[in-house]
Amino acid sequence: MIKKYIKYIFSYFWPKSTCKKNYLPILCYHSINNKKSKLIDSIDIDDFESQLKYISTNFNTIQFSEIDNDIFKKSIRPNLCITFDDGYLDNYEIAIPLLIKYKIKATFFVVSNFIDKKINLIDEKKWFFMDWVHLNEINNNNLFEVGIHTVNHKILSTLNDNEVFTEIFDSKLCIENKLNRRIDIFAYPYGNGFHIKKSALHVLKKLNFKLACTTYFNTNHSEFNNLLINRIVINENDNLNQFINKIRGKYNYIFYMLKIKSFLYRLLKKRKTIV
Ligand SMILES: [Zn+2]
Repeated sequence: MIKKYIKYIFSYFWPKSTCKKNYLPILCYHSINNKKSKLIDSIDIDDFESQLKYISTNFNTIQFSEIDNDIFKKSIRPNLCITFDDGYLDNYEIAIPLLIKYKIKATFFVVSNFIDKKINLIDEKKWFFMDWVHLNEINNNNLFEVGIHTVNHKILSTLNDNEVFTEIFDSKLCIENKLNRRIDIFAYPYGNGFHIKKSALHVLKKLNFKLACTTYFNTNHSEFNNLLINRIVINENDNLNQFINKIRGKYNYIFYMLKIKSFLYRLLKKRKTIV
């Protein structure tokens, strides 16, 4: 509760991104259902629909793979990108029908070893994941695309360099073969600086990935690093007003707090992470 108020006070004073001319918010969702799990950040279905209504009237949506420098030049309406991490079954059953209803594009980053499984993640609940039939359907719908999110969803900074390579390469190979399409977009598991090893960026470059996203909480501007793209995580207790303020960049101060956290982590744990 106290944390929520501190966040609100900071956001009150933080300037909007809209003050700067062109900016790109990329939203990061996980599960969409009424299970109420703070650890997974599952969003209530009605809240999700209100958020989509707001997006459809105020933004032009793009897929993650469409991001390039031109995105920041053109645009009568500002662009916005929606991503979903992990590949929960409710993304297919609940989120996709609503995305289609509002004609909103989205990108789904899936974990190759979670596909078609029931898994206990960080909380006590069992989570169901999409299968290959669902992913093929997503792959064949022009509104949607599939991206890579590793084999096992491990924190890359805790692995050795060979393991990092395998986590990225094997998932890319598996998903590309099953969907019969080249995929060059990636989302880091957990996604803050202290979760990401420098060698992961080398692997992504070596495998010709075009774009990769973090969960560094910030909107993006024309000078972006294509392998460290910022995203705004939507949390289960965000009301519509907080949601709108997040998109407008009023919560971007979190980016600097996460940078400090990552810097301290690298200093104290002596791991070759990014900051
Ligand atoms: Zn994830």
